[in-house]
Amino acid sequence: FVHQLADESVGMGELLTSPLRLAPEPSLPLPMAVYGPGRPNSRGLDLTVESMRAPLLAALATTTLPAVPEFDAKLASSAVATGVVSYQKWSKVAVAERAAVLRRAADALEQQMPRFCALLVKEAFKTWGDAVSEVREAADFLRYYAGEAERIMAPVALPGPTGETNELRLSARGVWVCISPWNFPLAIFMGQVAAALSTGNAVLAKPAEQTPGVAWEAVKLMHAAGVPEGALQLLHGPGETVGAALVAAPGVAGVVFTGSTQVAKIINRALAAKDGPIVPLIAETGGINAMLVDSTALPEQVVDAVVQSAFRSAGQRCSALRLLCVHEGIADGVIEMIQGAAQELVLGNPAELTTDVGPVIDREAFDNIQKHLQRLASTSKVLAAQKERASSATQSIAAMPNSVPPSAFEVRSLADVKDEIFGPVLQIVRWGSGALGTPEAVIAQINALGYGLTLGLQTRIDSRAQALAAGAHVGNIYVNRNMIGAVVGVQPFGGEGLSGTGPKAGGPHYLYRFCAEQTLTVNT
Ligand code: GLU
Repeated sequence: FVHQLADESVGMGELLTSPLRLAPEPSLPLPMAVYGPGRPNSRGLDLTVESMRAPLLAALATTTLPAVPEFDAKLASSAVATGVVSYQKWSKVAVAERAAVLRRAADALEQQMPRFCALLVKEAFKTWGDAVSEVREAADFLRYYAGEAERIMAPVALPGPTGETNELRLSARGVWVCISPWNFPLAIFMGQVAAALSTGNAVLAKPAEQTPGVAWEAVKLMHAAGVPEGALQLLHGPGETVGAALVAAPGVAGVVFTGSTQVAKIINRALAAKDGPIVPLIAETGGINAMLVDSTALPEQVVDAVVQSAFRSAGQRCSALRLLCVHEGIADGVIEMIQGAAQELVLGNPAELTTDVGPVIDREAFDNIQKHLQRLASTSKVLAAQKERASSATQSIAAMPNSVPPSAFEVRSLADVKDEIFGPVLQIVRWGSGALGTPEAVIAQINALGYGLTLGLQTRIDSRAQALAAGAHVGNIYVNRNMIGAVVGVQPFGGEGLSGTGPKAGGPHYLYRFCAEQTLTVNT
């Protein structure tokens, strides 16, 4: 152990002052209604897979996906016109009243938790655990932005010379186009919509074409809670036609988009080419997210964090771990343990409660991952390849055609790591010598990839964690834990560079971008 530390030029004293740390507990008071798996929320509801087993299974049997009509892209301008009329009224509704509508929607969502979970399982192939977390996150977004809108939209008096009053106030901008992804078809959909609505904007919501059913039911719930129909219109269809027409339509006040970097750039160019006002874009995109593990890290904690971060949700999270950088002194042991842990994952039908990893979203995603797997297999050593294992004797893998077994590959350098692979595929690189001799050099190479979403650090040296975090150009850093599942109001989420524009979703600065600011100076 001392020998490894010497290799990494770390003083022994530094390590000894660093306490053994497990995954952090949230500090009290809890800022949000819900926190963490298994924790009842503040309203006394115990919303977990275990506590809701029977209603969840019953909902699976009775819930059917709605048939969602496709929007005709030629009608984009009239949808904007409807939105403008509704925005003029909705923006004048008192912020407390708009907030009350969103809180009602959150309550309704929790009351209908089993049905929404069943929709997520059926349409997005979410495991039950992921589905429950997602419904809870959607309710968090509704309540958080309700409170944030009340906080930031109160007029602020500013100091001025005698004989003058100054006030800063925020107002809605107009009609926002919200384009959301299939990987969080409820939480991110609701988050975007709730942010725009809470601040008094109207919304044209364009969900991912793979998951219109969840969006349809979410919009019905919002209307029932009191959002006017014109203030929230659901426009389902392909991004290339419907999304493009909405972005290009005159009169749009802003666009919020979560998805690929490539599509964010297409939207950015389309907005820049428009006549008229400069239209703001909030984009949250992907990442080549890394975890740096030094020789002082706790191997069991590392393995748990790696398996959760790389393989949960079949790796279909922007935040997921793609690149593990492990110190050569402990790499063999850690890799062996990851291999063992990955073999334990149950791959199969997400409708089964025991399934850990469901299929990827569709054939296109599957084919794209296969291309990367072929490339990696020819250049790198395969470290873990999960044998297909059904979650029960009756459930065959064949019923889940787009299942991708979790796998890991060792690469020689970060030059081999090119694209974000949106699936359960982990790349591993050893550091400790040559161009990757120090953790600072590793972070510099991670920064040079150009993305900047999430980063994991596994070390028991506090000063090192702090210094590396300060030098990393990423939005979310997780020390000695997994790096997925950002909690609304607790871990504001979003990145920089190729990973997005900010501001961070679920954070205290997000809503400002949805508002116009006015300073009123009165000579008294
Ligand atoms: N907020 C999610 C998380 O922290 C990821 C969101 C996304 O994939 O876009 O895991």
